Amino acid sequence: MNVATILSEKGSDIISANPDDSLLDIAKTLRKHRIGCVVLTDNKGGIAGIVSERDIVRAIADAGSDVLSAPVSRCMTKKVVTCSRSETIDAIMAAMTDGRFRHMPVVEDEVLIGVISIGDVVRLRIAEAELEAAAMRDYIATG
Ligand code: AMP
Repeated sequence: MNVATILSEKGSDIISANPDDSLLDIAKTLRKHRIGCVVLTDNKGGIAGIVSERDIVRAIADAGSDVLSAPVSRCMTKKVVTCSRSETIDAIMAAMTDGRFRHMPVVEDEVLIGVISIGDVVRLRIAEAELEAAAMRDYIATG
């Protein structure tokens, strides 16, 4: 099982935004799409940064609610860890654990082709475990 498996199941809808968008706009986008993270892209479609709900909470705690009208570029993470379609789920889990983040943009030929979250990874892991358990039960029952 790899990243391509997750993408084929969840589809390739990508929610992205512009680094000049305000933090309030980003918060509205997170709310509208019921997601926890948005990838910021530049004019050429390259990844300029990533912002999660944690960044917004941190910015408000540090600077007060006025910061909501500031551009998201002010609090986004610029050094983004990405992955490719062929990477294994184990490698993604390790990267998320090491980096202490829950989202990973998927890139192909320097173009953003999807985003996977820790929720997607856990869902796939549970489905795998259920399949294995069913196969084991079948094996035991049929001898
Ligand atoms: P998260 O756990 O994904 O909500 O994000 C926690 C922190 O890591 C936030 O500061 C995010 O901007 C940052 N972050 C999230 N995903 C990534 C990623 N793929 N690469 C680098 N930083 C990230």
